[in-house]
Amino acid sequence: MTDAATPDTAPPNWLDWRWQLQHTLRGPALAQRFNLPPASAAWMATGAGFEIGVTPWFADLCAEQGRDGALARQVLPSREEADIAAFERADPLGEDPHRVAPGVVHKYPDRVLLLVTDTCASYCRYCTRARWVATQSESLDSAALDAAIAWIAANPMIRDVLISGGDPLLLSTRRLSRLLDRLAAIDHLQFIRIGTRVPVFLPMRVDAALADALRPRRIPIYVNVHINHYAELPDFTRDRLALLADAGIPLGGQAVLLRGVNDDVNTLRDTFYRMLACRVRPYYLFHCDPVIGTSHLRTTVDRGLELMAGLVGHVSGMAVPKYCVDLEGGGKVPLWPSYIEGRTPTALRVRGYDGQLHAYPNEPREP
Ligand SMILES: *Cc1c(COP(=O)(O)O)cnc(C)c1O
Ligand code: SF4
Repeated sequence: MTDAATPDTAPPNWLDWRWQLQHTLRGPALAQRFNLPPASAAWMATGAGFEIGVTPWFADLCAEQGRDGALARQVLPSREEADIAAFERADPLGEDPHRVAPGVVHKYPDRVLLLVTDTCASYCRYCTRARWVATQSESLDSAALDAAIAWIAANPMIRDVLISGGDPLLLSTRRLSRLLDRLAAIDHLQFIRIGTRVPVFLPMRVDAALADALRPRRIPIYVNVHINHYAELPDFTRDRLALLADAGIPLGGQAVLLRGVNDDVNTLRDTFYRMLACRVRPYYLFHCDPVIGTSHLRTTVDRGLELMAGLVGHVSGMAVPKYCVDLEGGGKVPLWPSYIEGRTPTALRVRGYDGQLHAYPNEPREP
């Protein structure tokens, strides 16, 4: 059903996003749908460390590639989640010590993360915030949201707010719109960002009313969509993203490098080109954070750099995001393959994407 909005046998409410959420596959229904191996099904039944759930929409996309395919690997629980590496952490980014107000994480001088809900449309097995997402402990009620907004309003060094969670696009359109109005009224903010995976897991949520709610106010609202594979963007999803792009909402793409999902050059290239065809500009490729129980989904940083070298120069620069590791406490650090191979007092030896070495002058003349 890649190009069709609905599979032939779809129930009449297939394109109703609330129906999709109500019919999220979990537990035995999920095990049966994907004929999970007994070890994984048993592991799931004992309560994996992290919430399980897949929308019917995304389950259909997964099923096209099979149980071990690139999409299913991201959301189906695996017994391998019980294998915990010594370096894996519940809070790998060290966010908790940087909480300055309810839902507000302040790690960088001029911007904050605002976590507004702990709910997602489906649950990624490698979720960086697994310690927190779907624990029903932290969705912001209105008093907590007031306190979060008050902190941002009282701190003029903040230039942009990144609304995340959980998935902010699961708030009702009215609540979301009201939140954006309140943030846009804070003079020192220059733009607002939303981080979401809803267009992938629940594209029917992206409708004209949502596009209207996300329109620029005094300041623009950028939407960054978490997308890991081109098969997550069938034409139906492209058309829903177009509602946002047409409403003047700049779209960015964030991917996570995952073993067995997108850890080869061709898949990454096709994924970033597909994003561009959907008017989504690739922004970040994150190395998979060392979250507890995610070793089976992680590659090495060396492999990540090799993949980046396979993209830089070989494909459109528009299709090359920044590859980042996120240091515990230290924040995001972009890593690039090293192109400088040596130097003389007056020149660098730089390797081109074609593998050839070139001299490049490094001899500024003082005025
Ligand atoms: C990722 C992140 C941001 C935004 O970082 P950019 O590099 O500006 O995209 C802000 N705050 C926190 C805590 C983050 O994790
Ligand atoms: S959509 Fe984001 S917050 Fe939700 S489970 Fe996936 S990675 Fe975690």
